[in-house]
Amino acid sequence: MDNIRSWPGAIQNCAECGGEMRYAGLGEFRCVECGNVQLNDYGRVRAYLEAHPGAMQSEVSRATGVSTNRIRQLLVEERIEISANSNIFLNCEMCGMPIRSGSRCPKCEERYQREMALEKKAERVGSIKSGHMAGDKMNASGEMRFLKK
Ligand SMILES: [Zn+2]
Ligand SMILES: [Zn+2]
Repeated sequence: MDNIRSWPGAIQNCAECGGEMRYAGLGEFRCVECGNVQLNDYGRVRAYLEAHPGAMQSEVSRATGVSTNRIRQLLVEERIEISANSNIFLNCEMCGMPIRSGSRCPKCEERYQREMALEKKAERVGSIKSGHMAGDKMNASGEMRFLKK
C-alpha cells in the first residue's frame, strides 16, 4: 500500500485544478488543493463490485469502462478479489475451475510451471538439432526469442 503512487493506475494530478492527488484508499484519489475525488480503474471496478457483488466480468467492464483485460489484470495482481458470495467471475485459464484471483488454480499453476520448464528445454534441443545454436541461448544472428503462451 505504501507504493500506491507507483501503481499503473495511480492518478498523479487533479483533472479539475492540476493539484496533487493523494491516495485515499480503495482506488480513490483526492486532490489536496480542491478535494476533487477521482477513482482509478481499480477504484471503479471495486466500487462496482461492492454495489453488485455477483457481477460478471463483462458486465463490470461495460459499467465501468475498464477493459476486461484490465479487470483480469487487477485480479491477477490480486488487487481485487472475487467476493465469497459472488457468481463465478474468473476461471482457471487451463482447466476452467473457478478461482478467486490470479490466472490459474494452484494445481494448474504447478503444472504450468513444470511445462514451461520442459518447453524451454525442448526449445534448446530443437535449436541445436536445426543447427541454429552455437551452444548459447541466442541463435547465430544474436536474436533473442520470447516464448509466448
Ligand atoms: Zn483539484
Ligand atoms: Zn486449473
